[in-house]
Amino acid sequence: MALIVQKYGGSSVGDAEKIKNVARRVAQTKDKGNDVVVVVSAMGDTTDELIKLAYQINERPDERELDMLLSTGEIISCTLLAMALEAMGYEAISLSGAQAGIRTDAVYSRARIQKVDPERVTRELEKGNIVIVAGFQGITDEMDVTTLGRGGSDTTAVALAVSLGAEVCQIYTDVEGIFTADPRIVPQAKKLSEIGYEEMLELATYGAKVTHPRAVELGELFNVPILVASSFTDSPGTLIHGGVSMEVRNKVKGIAHDLDVAKITVVGVPDHPGIAASIFEPLAKANISIDTIVQNASINKITDLTFTVAKSHLAKAMEVVKPIAQSIGASECVSAAKLGKVSIIGTGMQNTPGYAARMFGTLSEKGINIELITTSEIRITCIIDEAKVKDAVQALHRAFELEG
Ligand code: ADP
Ligand code: ASP
Ligand code: MG
Repeated sequence: MALIVQKYGGSSVGDAEKIKNVARRVAQTKDKGNDVVVVVSAMGDTTDELIKLAYQINERPDERELDMLLSTGEIISCTLLAMALEAMGYEAISLSGAQAGIRTDAVYSRARIQKVDPERVTRELEKGNIVIVAGFQGITDEMDVTTLGRGGSDTTAVALAVSLGAEVCQIYTDVEGIFTADPRIVPQAKKLSEIGYEEMLELATYGAKVTHPRAVELGELFNVPILVASSFTDSPGTLIHGGVSMEVRNKVKGIAHDLDVAKITVVGVPDHPGIAASIFEPLAKANISIDTIVQNASINKITDLTFTVAKSHLAKAMEVVKPIAQSIGASECVSAAKLGKVSIIGTGMQNTPGYAARMFGTLSEKGINIELITTSEIRITCIIDEAKVKDAVQALHRAFELEG
């Protein structure tokens, strides 16, 4: 008998029929003699709707109240799934993140799991229950409810798999696995049978929202394989794991894209020690994540500093940076909101020349202007006009021969 952790995403529990479908799949796993822990996301677009509602009530909702509100989405789906299983004659119990022992820090809206106390989950499994846990949420030492960031139910599932010693964490979603690009943008994208943690981490971090980046990070850290598969078919899915053979570690593995990019440029910055810190420390204090940072070579000890943030953080970041720019004697502070990024990712690119040139050449043939470039050892990212992202992904998918 194995212990299996399964996670079902929002579109898989979008209405009553879909919840019943998930219940049947969970029941089949239980019937095979397994102990089953199920993590669920909120139904359909519930989280988006709750956010909208909060902003209709208050333009700057309190972070603690917002997290408490959003956590209710997952409570709804986990109770309904428990009821669906009970209606089929199975013993099931729903648990909130707090009841399931998910302990986090107090950074609202993107709390990190500090530990999992799995005793209650274990006790319920021992009683023969199927345990359904509300994803995306946890609780602080002060007993305040937190959320883990959008898409965070994947991370709940992998954290539970780690703490319960499960052999694998199964993530069921609305696509049949990890593809060479988002199949909604590239219909010719191919499903991968397996992918290594490091490549998947780059894909997820740079926009492939099919798995939450921190779920992949946890899987890698504790060596728990993650299976991504469809909740609607029995197709075998994609295994994310550490044992990917050398032969498949070649060339570009996939293309990721992200439409949530805004850029701020501080123009005419005096180039001396401490200037970057004076800009980025207050941004960090304001809880604004910075992605790409580019500083131009300075001319006459004056330089420009450009960085990117999520679109939703642009207004707050400008509020923080404008007075600093003035105080350090920069000439102006400008922003652009309609950007996106496109990345090619693959361990085969390591120490192999030619990938960047091919990427830039492909974008230039399409008349796409590159605003910023960043790289890691296994990734090259270009920041471009958001309206060109779809074209760019399709062209790069073709240029790097991912269609098979
Ligand atoms: P869930 O609600 O199940 O968590 P998400 O919407 O978060 O599902 O993630 C699944 C979506 O991720 C797919 O519908 C697909 O459009 C998108 N996606 C982006 N990149 C990829 C990729 N490389 N492979 C598969 N799906 C991808
Ligand atoms: N419901 C949350 C969201 O929409 C968490 C998740 O789906 O994983 O982001
Ligand atoms: Mg998701």
